[in-house]
Amino acid sequence: MFEQYLRIKEGYPDALLFYRMGDFYELFFEDAEVASRELQIALTSRNPNAEAPIPMCGVPWHAAEGYVSQLLNKGYKIAFCDQVEDPRAAKGLVERAVTRVYTPGTAVEDVSLEPKGHTYLGALFWSADTDRGGFAWVDVSTGYWAGLHVKKSQELWQWAQKIAPRELLLPEDADVPASLHLTDIQAVRVPLRSHFDYKRSAERVLAAQSVAELGALGLEGRKELVQACGALLAYLEQTQMQDTKHLAPFEPLDLGQHLLIDDVTERNLELFRRLDGRKGVGTLRHVIDSTQTPMGGRLLEERLRNPWRELAPIQETQDAIAWLIAHPENRKKLRETLSGVYDLERLSTRIALNRTSPRDMLSLRQSLAALPPVKSAITSSDADTPRVLRSITEHWDDLGDHAATLQKALADDPPQFITEGGLFKQGYNAELDELLDLVEHGENRVKALLDEEQKASGISKLKLGYNRVFGYYFELSKAVGGTPPEHFIRRQTLANAERFTTVRLKELEEKLLSAADRRKSLEYKLFQQLRGALAEARPRILFMADMLAQLDYWQSLAETAVRHNWSRPVLHTGQSITIREGRHPVVEGIIGEAAFVPNDLHMDEDRRLLLITGPNMAGKSTVLRQTALICLLAQMGSFVPAREAQLGLCDRIFSRVGASDNLAQGQSTFMVEMMETARILRQATKRSLVILDEIGRGTSTFDGLALAWAVAEELARRAGGSIRTLFATHYHELTALEGKIPGVHTMNIAIREWNGEIVFLRRLIPGPSDRSYGIEVARLAGVPQPVVQRAREILAQLEQNKGSSPVRQVMPNLLPGIQLPEAKPKKAVEEVAVAEPEHPLLVALRDTNPDALTPLEALKRITEWKLLWGAPKQ
Ligand code: ADP
Ligand code: MG
Repeated sequence: MFEQYLRIKEGYPDALLFYRMGDFYELFFEDAEVASRELQIALTSRNPNAEAPIPMCGVPWHAAEGYVSQLLNKGYKIAFCDQVEDPRAAKGLVERAVTRVYTPGTAVEDVSLEPKGHTYLGALFWSADTDRGGFAWVDVSTGYWAGLHVKKSQELWQWAQKIAPRELLLPEDADVPASLHLTDIQAVRVPLRSHFDYKRSAERVLAAQSVAELGALGLEGRKELVQACGALLAYLEQTQMQDTKHLAPFEPLDLGQHLLIDDVTERNLELFRRLDGRKGVGTLRHVIDSTQTPMGGRLLEERLRNPWRELAPIQETQDAIAWLIAHPENRKKLRETLSGVYDLERLSTRIALNRTSPRDMLSLRQSLAALPPVKSAITSSDADTPRVLRSITEHWDDLGDHAATLQKALADDPPQFITEGGLFKQGYNAELDELLDLVEHGENRVKALLDEEQKASGISKLKLGYNRVFGYYFELSKAVGGTPPEHFIRRQTLANAERFTTVRLKELEEKLLSAADRRKSLEYKLFQQLRGALAEARPRILFMADMLAQLDYWQSLAETAVRHNWSRPVLHTGQSITIREGRHPVVEGIIGEAAFVPNDLHMDEDRRLLLITGPNMAGKSTVLRQTALICLLAQMGSFVPAREAQLGLCDRIFSRVGASDNLAQGQSTFMVEMMETARILRQATKRSLVILDEIGRGTSTFDGLALAWAVAEELARRAGGSIRTLFATHYHELTALEGKIPGVHTMNIAIREWNGEIVFLRRLIPGPSDRSYGIEVARLAGVPQPVVQRAREILAQLEQNKGSSPVRQVMPNLLPGIQLPEAKPKKAVEEVAVAEPEHPLLVALRDTNPDALTPLEALKRITEWKLLWGAPKQ
């Protein structure tokens, strides 16, 4: 046995080999040690008395799935080695072979997958010869796959980072750039020749998709992408041990159609994960995800990752959302009915791959039964029903034929495994009914035959018996006497009785004995028939899964808009951005809607670089991000957290935060910050939106200011001076750029000093901020009084020497033509009465539009003003 084991294990050195023995999967040697540690199961040994006992551990076969998923989550690969011949027919050792390999990136079982997220296997190929590269990714559990072909290797890796496949296939000798975070991505090295060879890749792709030409898949002339696709398919063949025909048609990602959000921006804006890496509360996804089905959840993920760039699909989505908002009854019903639909895509995949369970079939049956009510939820005679919704009802397919078959065939409480029997309802198949009857009522039928014989022969004392040698027999005791009927066949003569059989009894007995076996194999066959029919219906099931995903996506955004009072934005192809009373959807959720202060923002030709200054904690980062999030949401087709918004479509959004902590990657934070900034300067176009938050913070004040200055200047000039940029900085020296470079406009976030306290007003107002209030913020944060006091003394000294500060001396030379604002003479902080350009109350008044206020809001605002500025003079 160990000979066989070792021979098989040799083929799978990097996998944990689960070796089937009886009702267990056993692991041996090092595999056993790893598994017992990771799964917390007992480590035993084989030949415990021998000199070198062999470590071993095992799990029951029917519970293996759960263990496999635990190991997958920890990044292990698992090979299942099963018996591949009938043990009863085997001469000597049963033949075994690996029947499938589980890897983290190729799972299809629900226990190993996130319901509302994709799990990708990726493959990346860069050719130095052609200076081109391809990156492809596949979600095996749904059959979705896509890829892209690019000319810049950096862009390729950026996409790999953004898609973040669980496993990323790379040629053995490929160099991985240091910037790739390999925390979520497991790099898998595979041989170049077996996996990435162009000719074999092209053959694999054509065979998997049943097409004759690469052109049919948009792969013509995209050699490197074909190679990446080929590697995916080769890996799937190796691990799934079957063909890859269940994959959906391959579709290269069309970058021109999407608003591009690079991986760094995705992280900074906390779309899927918070900055600390966690999912859930605190992310944008969490705010907008009210989907009821896994398909809807995955579509939402996809749209959030790649919003649209063009108007048409956005407006269609808005129309659908608006209709669902205007028809709350329909929305409610849609939400209820959708919640009865299971994961049609993954169910269908498991059916196609023959890895389905009877329970899966039951989930499918229930999902199909939910289709007609879903349709009726969105059917309306209203003339205002938008075209997209009507088109869905027109193309609707209830899959009624399959729903009916499943209803008729499948037992209401089927077992977990196919081999256990009990899968079908009575009345589905006459032969099966007969077998079931035999198994359950066999004894009765023999008794009925006895009855018959008793009556026919008139011998009421005729008895029925059974033994292992002769099987069933009729027994006539000698004491009873009488002549046996002619068709009785004598089998045995005892001292006081004779035993007989009959042709019918023999037949019945044979049927009885084989019924249990025949029933099992018939059930298996019928199940496979049913499965085959459903596998054939995969395109129809996927089509409906897609329709349901869209409906779910719309209702989720409609629900979000209603719940948080969002509005429909107007998108246009111009450059301007106007947001009235914009809010940050995530921060607002955390601090409460009442506590959040909405802000207006306007950008256009004359104000394309907004320099936003203000002390720490004022709300600069918040207003920057909320603007980016509003644009992004709008391009997903969603409503937005603002009273009103007119937005010029973006092709890319970049968001960079100064000195973001990237120490885990072994790069200095400042280096990363500058690399990211450099990327923006190379990639931004006139339709991009750039968010720079405290760029330059990661180095000395002097360097930092100079860099921030130069970057701001460059952005204001690039692409004919038209890149829309929001630039937050605590270097208020930068505000000197206003008026020097066209398009630069300064704003600050209002602060009020009152009774020696500073009050954050959270209001974005025009003009530069006067100073940084850093010491005040430190005091608010609880820095001990003596330290605060000492800081004030030092500041006072520094301010006296202001004229000679290095910045003032050197800056004008570095950047000719720039005049620094005159330093305001300042005394010690406590005594300063800040010369404000304008009273904040005036600003607030100007910002107020009485027509747009509810009486309650007006009252609240007046109370706020009274509190801030209405106190009696002391
Ligand atoms: P900055 O970047 O200026 O240091 P942040 O944007 O990080 O400031 O904001 C600091 C905190 O202030 C936030 O965590 C949030 O709780 C609060 N805040 C920011 N903007 C607002 C607002 N508009 N309304 C209410 N609270 C806000
Ligand atoms: Mg900030």
